[in-house]
Amino acid sequence: MHFITFFVISQLSSDNTPSFLYFLSAMKNVAIIGAGITGLSCAFYAKKNGNSIQVFEKMNRVGGVMHTIQKNGFTYETGPSTGSVSLPEVVELYEDLGIRDLLEEAPSVAGNRFILKNGKLCALPSGIFSGLTTPLFSWKDKFGMPFEPFRKRGTDPHENLSSMVRRRLGQSMLDYAIDPFVSGVYAGNPDVMIPKYALPKLYNLEQEHGSFIRGAIAKMKEPKPERNKKATKKVFSTQGGLSVLAEHLANAIGRENFVLGNHPVVVPENGKYKIHAGEETYGPFDHVIFTAGASHVFEALPFVKEKFPGAGEVLYAKVSEVAIGFKKWEGVPLNGFGALMPSKEHRNILGILYMSTLFKNRAPQGGALLSVFVGGLRHPDFIDLPADKFKEMVSREVADILKIPHMEPDLFEVTHHEEAIPQYDLKTPIREEAYKGIEKAYPGILMGGNGIDGIGMAKRIAQGRELANRL
Ligand SMILES: Cc1cc2nc3c(=O)[nH]c(=O)nc-3n(C[C@H](O)[C@H](O)[C@H](O)COP(=O)(O)OP(=O)(O)OC[C@H]3O[C@@H](n4cnc5c(N)ncnc54)[C@H](O)[C@@H]3O)c2cc1C
Repeated sequence: MHFITFFVISQLSSDNTPSFLYFLSAMKNVAIIGAGITGLSCAFYAKKNGNSIQVFEKMNRVGGVMHTIQKNGFTYETGPSTGSVSLPEVVELYEDLGIRDLLEEAPSVAGNRFILKNGKLCALPSGIFSGLTTPLFSWKDKFGMPFEPFRKRGTDPHENLSSMVRRRLGQSMLDYAIDPFVSGVYAGNPDVMIPKYALPKLYNLEQEHGSFIRGAIAKMKEPKPERNKKATKKVFSTQGGLSVLAEHLANAIGRENFVLGNHPVVVPENGKYKIHAGEETYGPFDHVIFTAGASHVFEALPFVKEKFPGAGEVLYAKVSEVAIGFKKWEGVPLNGFGALMPSKEHRNILGILYMSTLFKNRAPQGGALLSVFVGGLRHPDFIDLPADKFKEMVSREVADILKIPHMEPDLFEVTHHEEAIPQYDLKTPIREEAYKGIEKAYPGILMGGNGIDGIGMAKRIAQGRELANRL
């Protein structure tokens, strides 16, 4: 009899769909803190797996930093503008929601990425020929590239990204490829970023294979599961903007399962958890899943602060995002993903994304929508500039870089994020250890959010699903 039960369970659990297993383990009462993409993905899969869920979100809307606005003929984002289909979980989320047709992958022109050097936009090389002819890198570093596999392996797990790249690839590669990439994606600084935590795949290439090139070749040769083919690595959004994804998730989760607009406070009680939010008390819950950002742990879980102060250890980059729209575009052709500014160029913006090139219907026909990023660890004070000075500074930079003859945009919308992107620096292991400690000390609590496991949209979706599957 036991053999048959075991056989049935093992057969059913080998499938990804909600199974008999979940039924056997009985429905769990689960509270999820935060309704950004992590919390929403988590709630969606937790419900799909057969649990009873309630999502607590302090704002009055779902989506977290994902927020799309329509104005004056433009559709712009105030938070993340794009994601990368770097994991199959992204495609599977759209499939599982039944909205696969709304997943919008950018056209192949998005492969063109531009880096500013001496005031000119230079395409980031994508092959051997363009690698040799690009003005971005020094001859020393270009000719040094074939020797990368023979350079000594790094031994310091806490070496910063600048030092690692200088050692393996050379100074010009750091200045004109890695530095602008780190500013563009993390609003960060390669002197602060620790590859072991921020870029674990890259770190492991060197640790496991002794070289980036040798490691990349070995990875290419590895057989890939069929499922990985879904990870196209293309840039994605949702048709109509990322809020459309958030709204579909909220509908699938069930609007009645959200408690919006109040700070939830979790209280442990007899091995379970109650939650106070506004005038109401909810629960008891078997599980509480934390998905809000790292700086909010103690707001929601005040009882962990004394024992696990490291859970609040996080350095955030501030970012101001500016949506600039033109009904008639007169600047350089926007034939790419966008342009990034290396620190060496001393510009007052971090980068510009060509949103209307990447996705349909973001600007009126013949017009353009740009998403401009300002601040980051490079210029943390820009967020505090008076509005007119800020606008004047950004307009001047954008007009100069994209050669816009009349800088008279039809849309200029600024969103300031005091806590935009958590940095994966030397505080990361402290945070990770504290999260593990909390889960051990308080069974039933699961810790997530963009303070661990990466900041990109794909990583957030994957973490949300993983948390749901851990229930
Ligand atoms: C300006 C900007 C641009 C970005 N651009 C990109 C990009 O182009 N591509 C990309 O891949 N990634 C980008 N990112 C990163 C990516 O957007 C985030 O990592 C991701 O959206 C975070 O999702 P999340 O659900 O983990 O957190 P959030 O979206 O921050 O959601 C957390 C939620 O928790 C809520 N909350 C906080 N405290 C509490 C509390 N005490 N109680 C209840 N609720 C609480 C918040 O209100 C929020 O709704 C960008 C981020 C920013 C800020």
